[in-house]
Amino acid sequence: MRNLLIVLSGPSGVGKGTIVNELKKIYDFATSVSCTTRAPREGEIDGKHYFFLSKENFNSMIERGELLEYDNHFGNLYGTPKAFVEEKLKTQNVLLEIEVNGALNAKKVYPAAVLIMIVPPSVEELKARLMGRGTEDEEKIAERLKRLDYELSKKDEYDYVVVNDNLHKAVTEIENIIKAERLK
Ligand code: ADP
Ligand code: 5GP
Repeated sequence: MRNLLIVLSGPSGVGKGTIVNELKKIYDFATSVSCTTRAPREGEIDGKHYFFLSKENFNSMIERGELLEYDNHFGNLYGTPKAFVEEKLKTQNVLLEIEVNGALNAKKVYPAAVLIMIVPPSVEELKARLMGRGTEDEEKIAERLKRLDYELSKKDEYDYVVVNDNLHKAVTEIENIIKAERLK
């Protein structure tokens, strides 16, 4: 069986983090810690949730070719450390939770990557989840919703699209995708 680079994307608030937590209970896969220039949210730990970098340090990583992919998202840079992914793939499946542009760039660099887009059952439900999470103010929520159409317009470039209506159902669907892809 081959080790997979699984790339999960989807609009902010759709439930990616929740799904990854559930998948981690089932699979022993490596989840990469991304680099970002965004400020930490309350409770976020450097090296665990992200490597929080200055713009200068992030740009140095780009120049040294140390990122598998990167993108500017909501005014901040986000990127995946290449060495971590390459090393882990030798022995394990690796899961990246990254936005659409980065995911499509990762597929160019690593065509065997399995791209899965998580979509909400409706825009209303997505908004309710973002409000319910309580980590962004109204302005930030509006900003994230504005990007929704763009993200959804890229779904045909993904290998799979999974609707996160019922959490258990979405996780089972992804489990089945992983099983099938590992056997290819
Ligand atoms: P993302 O990582 O995509 O930004 P989160 O995992 O933080 O999204 O989920 C956003 C909110 O939606 C959280 O409060 C989470 O508990 C909730 N949520 C996730 N999946 C579901 C679901 N299937 N049904 C209802 N609420 C959900
Ligand atoms: P947040 O600021 O809410 O943690 O993340 C914002 C967006 O950045 C999310 O869509 C998340 O998936 C994406 N993201 C996180 N890490 C990376 C990364 O390494 N590369 C790219 N391209 N996007 C990322």
